[in-house]
Parts: sequence; structure tokens; C-alpha cells
Amino acid sequence: MTATQNKVIPEVQTFLNTPIPLFINGDWHTPKDKATFIAENPATGNSLATVYEAKENEVNMAVDAAERAFHDSEWSRMSAYDRSKLMFRLADLMERDFEIIAQLDSLDNGKPVDEVRESDLPNAIENLRYFAGWTTKLTGQTIPIDTEFFNYTRHEPVGVVGQIIPWNFPIMMGLWKIAPAIATGCTVVLKPAEQTPVSALYLGKLIKESGFPDGVINIINGFGKEAGHYLVNHQKVNKIAFTGSTATGQQIMKQAADTMKRVTLELGGKSPNIILEDADLEKAVPGVFNGIMVNQGEVCCAGSRVFIPEKIFDQVVKKLKNFADNTVLGMGIEEGTTMGPLVSQKQYDTVTAYIEKGLNEGATMVTGGTKDGEGYFVKPTIFTDVNKEMSIVKEEIFGPVAVLIPYSEVDEVVDMANDTEYGLAAGVWTQNLKNAHIVANKLKAGTVWINCYNLTNAATPFGGYKQSGFGREMGSYALENYTEVKSVWVNLD
Ligand code: NAP
Ligand code: MG
Repeated sequence: MTATQNKVIPEVQTFLNTPIPLFINGDWHTPKDKATFIAENPATGNSLATVYEAKENEVNMAVDAAERAFHDSEWSRMSAYDRSKLMFRLADLMERDFEIIAQLDSLDNGKPVDEVRESDLPNAIENLRYFAGWTTKLTGQTIPIDTEFFNYTRHEPVGVVGQIIPWNFPIMMGLWKIAPAIATGCTVVLKPAEQTPVSALYLGKLIKESGFPDGVINIINGFGKEAGHYLVNHQKVNKIAFTGSTATGQQIMKQAADTMKRVTLELGGKSPNIILEDADLEKAVPGVFNGIMVNQGEVCCAGSRVFIPEKIFDQVVKKLKNFADNTVLGMGIEEGTTMGPLVSQKQYDTVTAYIEKGLNEGATMVTGGTKDGEGYFVKPTIFTDVNKEMSIVKEEIFGPVAVLIPYSEVDEVVDMANDTEYGLAAGVWTQNLKNAHIVANKLKAGTVWINCYNLTNAATPFGGYKQSGFGREMGSYALENYTEVKSVWVNLD
């Protein structure tokens, strides 16, 4: 037995032992053609589980089930309060099976299990409970017009929602999407990423146990080009919510135009993290380091461009290198690991090609590179001597790679930070709150963190400017993604 197997709890092993079917219409479904694919453990490259694959037929089945549930079912007639009770029950079950889900995500994605325990999973559960609270508070307006008319608005669920999520935070991305959709009364067909299918399927088990009516939430694993494609093009899907790369987001937006689907897109980034001269370096340096390196750098809002005042540049570089060199790379499931492998061979190839490109373009690698042995490991990698034409400075790498850029004036650094096609997030580190707010106001990004980074909360919105997409996840703003506003006129004459 390997060390990993020793630590895996029996419930996890049992769940992974037999091929996992799709979750359609409240039941487990094996596709007619019995097609399967392998969920891999990226720390070893070995198979973790076999998962059935949804194709056009299964997409149609799941959408039909979601449509029936939306139009004519216990769900469509259910009170908002009863809807919230189901959501709270699901949150309780996720808490009951907390360790199982934490291990599944760690094994499938590679990330340190402590990160799932401390961040991804509590955040996912928090989203369910936060949006459960909203079900009974989705009010419209009464609008004063002429005295002989009474006018009011209703916020109605948009209908069947297709949700396509990535592999970097499997369970958390799932709940960021599912929770606001079902809070409004929509029904869902969720397609997880093919690299990380297992925790969503375990969630299917809990959805069934919670007592959700059949078809309210369907989970269809499969490939983007097949299952994702049919979901995006399906006539009966009213809205697509997508998180992933800008390239796929652009494709989805174009395709959704044919059926006039509502679309929200949470896409990539190349976020700036700015240290001002008066920052408390004891806090700023670890904050900036985690801002890019947490979750192996596979974070859409990762602070991958670090701006440092010229005067303290060498000092900060040294401190960041020290953090990088003390990182413990290993299997996510092993206690003590602080950085896991990248999610797949493909992601490893992409990230290592960028490192190679950085070196070829003349940047200096202060520390980093690949790790010998099995698994898709890349060490925390830090580049200096970069310029704005380099691909490692312009493009999203989605791995543990930071570029460190010196600057002299605050005005100059704001322009440098905004000089990107993306606008997902940004960070500012300073002890002068006046400067912090001045800089925060000038940054073109959907989230700005002051003296912190990568924080999210179910109650606060998250989303992008520019090519980082549009629409906001979480907070009351997310409810707008899933509702249509109806204006009702009543003639009182
Ligand atoms: P991706 O292609 O955008 O995948 C994200 C999701 O979209 C997955 O569920 C994927 O399914 C699905 N998908 C792919 N092609 C589709 C299509 N034509 N129609 C409908 N759905 C489709 O991202 P990736 O290839 O996994 O990663 C590539 C790059 O994307 C990364 O290097 C990173 O830069 C970026 N990325 C960003 C985020 C983020 O949070 N913003 C997350 C992940 C990746 P399959 O996985 O089954 O193909
Ligand atoms: Mg995997």
C-alpha cells in the first residue's frame, strides 16, 4: 500500500472503487453506450476512479429532467421557505461528510487537503446557507405611476440553467454556481471539468439524500467539446453560467447567441499585486507569496504580477525566494504538504512551456522549475528582469509562476497594473489607508484587496472587468444572473 492509500478514509475508497454513473433526474444513470473516462490522481498520474461520460443523449436527458422539474413538479410549486429548508439540509449533509469531500477533491485535483478543509469546502457550504437565506427575500418593487394604475415587479427564475465549471476548486465552484440558481427556483444541469469529476458526483448522492425533487440538480460529467457543447447549444437551456478560460468563454458566448441564452462568464486573469513603499513587509511578503502560489497558482484571480518599489526590490525578492524555497511539495493528501501537483499533464506542459519561454525571452529565474519524479509538480517559480512584451508578463499561466516588476512612482504603477486585457482582481499593500483607497479606485478590476489577497465570501460579489468576463458570483448580485424581471400593470380604473 502506498502512503496515500493509508490515509484515505474507507468511505472515499468505496466511492471510488466502482465506475461512477451520472446523476440525472434524481437517479444514477449509466449512459447507453457505457462510455467512461478516467479521473486521475495528478500526484501520481495513476487512475483515481472511472467515471461515466455524458454525450448528446445524456445532455438531452438531463435538460429534459431539469425542464420538467422547472415547469411542472413539486419544485415549481414549492414555497420559498421549503426551498431554503432543502438547501440547509444539503449544507448539513456536506458538513456531515466533510472529510470525505475534502479527500475526494484533494485526490482528484492534487491540492493540499488542508486547503480544502480550511477554505474550499467551508466556502462551498457557506454559499449554500447564504443563498438559502435569500430564497424568502427575493422581492420586487411597487412602482408609483399614474394613480389609475398599480405596477409591480416580480423577480422570476430564468429557467433551466447550464453550469460549466473548471477544475481548480471543484466543490467550491460547484456550489458558487448551484446555490444562487436553486435559491431563485431555477433548475440546474452542472457539467464539472473532466479533470475533476468526483466530488460533484458525491454531491449528487447528498442531493438525493436531502430530498430535492427529481431533476432539480443534474450532474453530467463529460468533455467540454461534447457534453459542454450540447449543453451550450440546447434549445431548452435558458442560461449558461461558465467559469474557465477566456478562449472557451468567447466560444460559449458566440454559440449562446443563436438561442439568445443569458450568459455569465467568469474568466481568466493576470492580476497585479502592488506593494507600496510603506507596506508592512512582515505581512505583505507572505500575503503576496500566497496571493500567487496558493492552490499551485491555479487560481483565476492569482496575483501573478507583483509590483515592488525599486528601493526595496532586492530585499523583497530575497524574502519571496525564501518562502518559495521553504514550500513543501507533495501529495495533497499528505499532512504537511503546502503545494500539490498541477492538475494534469496538459496543465504541466502549459506551465513548463511558459517557464521555458520566460527563460528564452531573457527573464531571470530566481528560483523554481520542475521537480523530478512522478506527478505533475512545478516548484514555486519567480522571475525578475522581465518586460511588458514577454509572454510570462502578458498571458495567464495558471500555475505557480510570479513575475516581479520594479517601479518608482505610484501613478506609474497604477498604469502598469492596468496595462492588461484582464481585470479580475488586484491587491495593494500599504500602511497608508488614504493611498490604499486612491489606488483601489484607479485599478480596473472586479475585486481589490487591501492588505489581504484571495479572500472571498458568499456575501460579497466576485467577477471581472474587461476580458475577465461579466456577471458577478456571490452576494445579492449573483441573484440577478438567475432571474428575469417581470413588470405587471394593473388597471384600477
Ligand atoms: P477550459 O477549457 O475553459 O475549461 C473549463 C470548463 O469548460 C471545463 O468544464 C471544460 O470541460 C469546459 N469546456 C471546454 N470547452 C468547452 C466548449 N467548447 N463548450 C462548453 N464547455 C467547454 O479550461 P482548461 O482547458 O481546463 O484550462 C485552460 C486554461 O483555462 C488554464 O490554463 C487557465 O488559464 C484557464 N482556466 C481558468 C479558470 C478560471 O477559474 N477562470 C479555471 C480553469 C482554467 P472539459 O474540462 O471537460 O473539457
Ligand atoms: Mg483528477
